[in-house]
This record gives sequence, C-alpha cells and structure tokens, in this order.
Amino acid sequence: MLEKVTDPEKTERQAGQDKPEIHVDIERSAEPEKYRAKREGVFKLEQVSVDYNGALAVSEVSMDVWRNHITALIGPSGCGKSTLIRSFNRMNDLIPAANVEGRILYHGQDLYGDDIDPVEVRKRIGMVFQKPNPFPKSIYDNIAFGPRVLGMEGDMDETVEKALTGAALWDEVKDRLDSNAFGMSGGQQQRLCIARCLAVEPDVILMDEPCSALDPISTGKIEDLMLELKNDYSIVIVTHNMQQAARVSDLTAFLIVELDADEKHRFGRLVEYDETEKIFTNPSDKRTEDYVTGKVG
Ligand code: ADP
Repeated sequence: MLEKVTDPEKTERQAGQDKPEIHVDIERSAEPEKYRAKREGVFKLEQVSVDYNGALAVSEVSMDVWRNHITALIGPSGCGKSTLIRSFNRMNDLIPAANVEGRILYHGQDLYGDDIDPVEVRKRIGMVFQKPNPFPKSIYDNIAFGPRVLGMEGDMDETVEKALTGAALWDEVKDRLDSNAFGMSGGQQQRLCIARCLAVEPDVILMDEPCSALDPISTGKIEDLMLELKNDYSIVIVTHNMQQAARVSDLTAFLIVELDADEKHRFGRLVEYDETEKIFTNPSDKRTEDYVTGKVG
C-alpha cells in the first residue's frame, strides 16, 4: 500500500472528504521557502537502469528529487530522458518490452515493491505529455473523469473549479465548461491536462516535454504555472529546451548518449546533477559545459 503524503493546507481544504489511504507524517511548513531549504526527499533513485527487450536505454542513474522543487532532465535526443521520467510513476509498466532495474524510493517506499498498486502510484504521481491529450469530452468531464473513476468524494463542481483554478484556466473557461475540450487552443488543452492531473490531488507532476507543441506565449504561461505549482507540488520535467530548464528548474540532471564497449549499442547515462545555476554557469563536467554552451548537441 502506498502511503498518503499529508499536507496540512490541502487536508484542511479537503476537510469532510473521506480519504481511505493511510497517512505519512511528513511535516510541511506553511512557508515553501522553509521546506525548500530543508530539502525533503520525494524520490531517491538508486542505480536505475531501463532496457527494452534487453537493449539498455538508460544506465545506472542515481539521484534525489526534492519536494517543492522543479527538477529538469536535459540531454540530447535518445539519452533516455523520457524513459527515465516514465520510471518515476511506473508508466514503463505499460510498455511490455520495458524492464526497470535498480531501486526507486518514493518518500522512502520502494515504488516497485510487491505491495504497491501502480494505479495508486499514477494517481499520486501524475503525468503530462508532450502533446496535449484531452478526452473527447466537455471541459468539465475531462476534469471530473479521474475523481469519478477513483470514486473520490466531495462536491464535483468544487473539484472542477479548484483544478481549473490551480491550472490558471478557470477564468478562461468558466463560462463554457460544457464545451468540448477539442475546441480549446493547444496551450489551453495542455493546461487542461495539468488541471486533470490536479483534480486527483497528486503529490508529484511529471512533465515530458510539455511545451514542445506550444507557441512561445502558451509556453510562457505553462512555465509561469509551473513556478506557481511548485509551492504545492513537486515537479520533474523533461525538456530539450535548455532555456526552459534554466528559466524554471531548481535542479538539472544532464544525461548523455554513450556507446558501449563494442561501439554498437547506445544508451543514456547521467553525467551531472546539480543546482540549475551551477549546471548552466559552472558545471563540473566538461561534457556538460560543451552541451550547455552549444558546442555539442
Ligand atoms: P529521449 O527522451 O532522451 O529522447 P528516450 O527515452 O525516448 O530518449 O529513448 C531512449 C532509448 O530508448 C532510445 O534508444 C529509444 O529508441 C529507446 N526507446 C524509447 N522508448 C522505447 C520503446 N517504447 N520501445 C523500445 N525502445 C524504446
């Protein structure tokens, strides 16, 4: 059973709703800066490798992901960023060829443990994809879908309003909640997908290239939203856009593509993981420097 992470503020907001999960007594300060300084762990990756039918895609990644931080995964195409982020919420379980080795601890619990329900994992650890993927339903029903499927109690109108407000979309759509989500702009659709994540009260939001299909204005809105959301959630983002990583993330992990000994097979490896400012201004590894300065792509 995956333990519930409690947040006093959220718990207060949800007072009156039955929460079946057991609790974890993780202390939460009302002031984000304080717990940011404390660096409370959300994920601990220990030697995580992922292969597809035995072909290694990403090798032996060890890193900590911190609560209320934005963590960016950057690196050249094919270095395993998407593969790695999918292992954070067991999305790789849905790819039959994928096999995850090593250990991922989520608030100290083995995410791949026998007693862990992957559906519960994906509720706690939501995901937003490259291409907005609303359901062919109304805006309202897109948001209400998750809470309904999960049998969450409470006033659905409130849930929908709260999620859309949290995704900075409420004012734009409150008068057309019954309209089909396909009628929204791409940027609005992506914020709808973020709202859909928020509606099931996650702890972590994973974003796999969330802005790559969006124009610069919509991208700016999503980036502003991410900075807002990190007060309540922990965010991991895959981005090929280094400026984006530099603008929004607190920490950055840089991966590269390596060739194996017989120079036939390519796989990703973590080169350096540090404060974003350090990665972009004074990285420890020459390969990081070459990448962030554009010397190699
Ligand atoms: P990135 O996100 O950094 O571009 P990916 O994680 O998409 O990298 O890919 C890393 C490696 O894993 C690549 O060699 C890719 O071909 C392989 N890969 C990714 N997804 C799959 C899949 N579903 N099945 C088989 N191989 C895959």
